[in-house]
Amino acid sequence: MALFYNLCSSSSGNATYVGSRTEGLLFDAGVGVRNFPKWLSLQGLAPEAVKGIFLTHEHADHVKGLKAIAGRFHIPIYGTEGTLRRMMDTGRLTGEEELHVIRRETVVGGFTVVAAPTSHDSPGSVCYRVETPDGGTAGICTDLGVMSEMILETLSGCGHILIEANYDERMLENGPYPRYLKERIRSRSGHLSNAQCAGAVGQLLQEGCRSFSLGHLSEHNNCPALARQAVEGYLSQLGLEEGGCRLSVLPKSTDGKAVEF
Ligand SMILES: [Zn+2]
Ligand SMILES: [Zn+2]
Repeated sequence: MALFYNLCSSSSGNATYVGSRTEGLLFDAGVGVRNFPKWLSLQGLAPEAVKGIFLTHEHADHVKGLKAIAGRFHIPIYGTEGTLRRMMDTGRLTGEEELHVIRRETVVGGFTVVAAPTSHDSPGSVCYRVETPDGGTAGICTDLGVMSEMILETLSGCGHILIEANYDERMLENGPYPRYLKERIRSRSGHLSNAQCAGAVGQLLQEGCRSFSLGHLSEHNNCPALARQAVEGYLSQLGLEEGGCRLSVLPKSTDGKAVEF
């Protein structure tokens, strides 16, 4: 069995470990350099277990701890050309780091990572499928804008998927954000709402996926109960029997729980 262990998931920080107890990969590094080893240790994991950091894109909530973590623990960084170039251009990476430009498929140790482009508003933004050495498959799928055919195909049959449920439509509309920001979030290059997430989970069920963590919830425009309700309500409309699907909502920062897949 492989481990899916989310360290943090929200609009202010994202990082997820996938692997065994001794070796794995980190997806995004939106976690502080002090919390990183502390939160890993809640699952008995050491920073040395992390053999690579894969970036979905260069927004701060996905990279804010990257330079410090990669530097202190000597971890190579993997990202698309667009992501790494933007990080270099803005001085958030200096070139002293071990950088690897990825394309569709990348092999690190016994792990195979497959990237699929997302419509999110960051150059080279992707989501991932990861295949572990023991044959497990997981998906890391946040900051989408829209679900695409290619993403569905990439995530098909995954044993566990982290999927974004960013905002409740009513909370966003009535919330504190300025109009332009509300429109950006709702756009094709923004984020998935709870209702869009529910639709995507429905599509992924048809692709044979049965286990989901809802994540990347906005702190201002969503709450865990609404995200869960939206997806559960949609699934019961589809007539999916209870127990047919494993669903959890990720806390903003870890409660120490992991999913085995
Ligand atoms: Zn983003
Ligand atoms: Zn984000």
